[in-house]
Amino acid sequence: MTEAVKNLGDMPIDEFRRQGYKVVDWIADYFEHIEEFPVLSQIHPDWLKDNLPTSAPETGEDFGRIMADVDKLILPAVTHWNHPNFHGLFSTSTSSVGVFGEMLAAAFDMKAMLWRTSPASTELEDVVLDWLRQMMDLPSHFEGIIYDTASVSTMHAIAAARERANMRVRDEGMSGRVDLPLMRVYASEHVHSSIDKSAITLGLGLRSLRKIECNERFEMMADKLADAIDEDLEAGYLPICVIPTIGTTSSSSVDPVDAIADICEKYGLWLHVDSAYAGSTAIVPEFRKYFTGWERADSIVVNPHKWLFTPFDLSVLYCKDLSQLKQAFSLIAEYLKTAEQDSVKNGMDYGIQLGRRFRALKLWFVIRYFGREGLIARLREHCRLARLFASWVEESSDWEMLAPVPFALVCFRACPAAVDDPDALNERIMNEINASGEAYLSHTKLNGKFTLRLSVGSIRVEQRHLEKVWGLLNDRLDTCVKGIAS
Ligand code: PLP
Repeated sequence: MTEAVKNLGDMPIDEFRRQGYKVVDWIADYFEHIEEFPVLSQIHPDWLKDNLPTSAPETGEDFGRIMADVDKLILPAVTHWNHPNFHGLFSTSTSSVGVFGEMLAAAFDMKAMLWRTSPASTELEDVVLDWLRQMMDLPSHFEGIIYDTASVSTMHAIAAARERANMRVRDEGMSGRVDLPLMRVYASEHVHSSIDKSAITLGLGLRSLRKIECNERFEMMADKLADAIDEDLEAGYLPICVIPTIGTTSSSSVDPVDAIADICEKYGLWLHVDSAYAGSTAIVPEFRKYFTGWERADSIVVNPHKWLFTPFDLSVLYCKDLSQLKQAFSLIAEYLKTAEQDSVKNGMDYGIQLGRRFRALKLWFVIRYFGREGLIARLREHCRLARLFASWVEESSDWEMLAPVPFALVCFRACPAAVDDPDALNERIMNEINASGEAYLSHTKLNGKFTLRLSVGSIRVEQRHLEKVWGLLNDRLDTCVKGIAS
């Protein structure tokens, strides 16, 4: 009989303490040496599966051996989002203090469904989201709720919009109904794919999502939106919701939220603002100009896990009237009834999840540790670095900018005179840099052109990291152009 079977219960507390100190040291070393790792994992698909046993161990293993395998097997398979030269997608990273929040939340292991099962989680969520609301200068009627991701926040917002349209979908569903017209949700052609996925998940179908044309700055055209709504009404459809984005994924463009709010008001539509990426910058006074009109929204999504140094996952949905979300989702089974249910907030009433993680703790740690001032300074610096990088692109005859830089995303490409196929050239440059492990860039297509995207957002990023990428890009440009010429 092994020790684990003889001595039931958890890891002995003295062992936990001993191993715990080592794990914290391990994480500190990881952050300290983060730049020594290749940004993008260099393994090939199935490498980890090929290197791990195909079934679970019969007897328990020494924790030291498990950690040794973290070094040997897990680390090589990590793409290091925390690396300061991670510039792909949106550069997001955790602060170390955010990791402490995760550790404690895991230790408490609360399931925030009912107030009584999780008073700390329920109440801290309200407090910290109200702090963030004030930092972002949103009116006091906005109340927030934390979900895992923006995809899920937005899905809940659209569900609430659908319920407000008064077609009794919550009770009667959508299938088999002849009385239900095609519902319409409107967003720009640059909207994030999570909105398409919400339409799929909610049973609206992709056909319900009407994408509105953008101008040359990739911003939704409000007059085209109004025309589309008129056309749909004429056709007997039921418009329910408009989703402008502040900081689109491809280019970080900003839809004209104020003009869109006028249209929503006129037609009685739910206005949901997707500011998953750029929302954090509303805490920076000089960036508020990009947020004009968002205070008129019915709901807004902001992701502290994107650009507020909070470990994944933590997305916030602010609602003008949170009770509308409750109307869409509250359902109290007998075994979840409590004496205090009418006088407290029970997290389970605001979405599809019953148990919810204690996510507010890590955001509370981050905001308290850095303070408003510290967070603003970091966001400002990222935007400064992005503009600096953009200025290098602008000054070079080999490179060109492909979109404005309102926040900290630079969209650009190589355009040397001697090259016939700039798309292929830029893709090659990107692939070679990514394969080298020295930096990670991603791409999009803007106006049909293969576009390199460089996002600045890591809490560890400094000017020297941008100088390094600029050097890599120019080196690769030289070798690729020579390669094409020879
Ligand atoms: N909305 C925008 C504008 C985004 O850029 C993203 C992701 O990059 C999302 C939504 C989806 O975010 P999440 O991964 O939290 O679902």
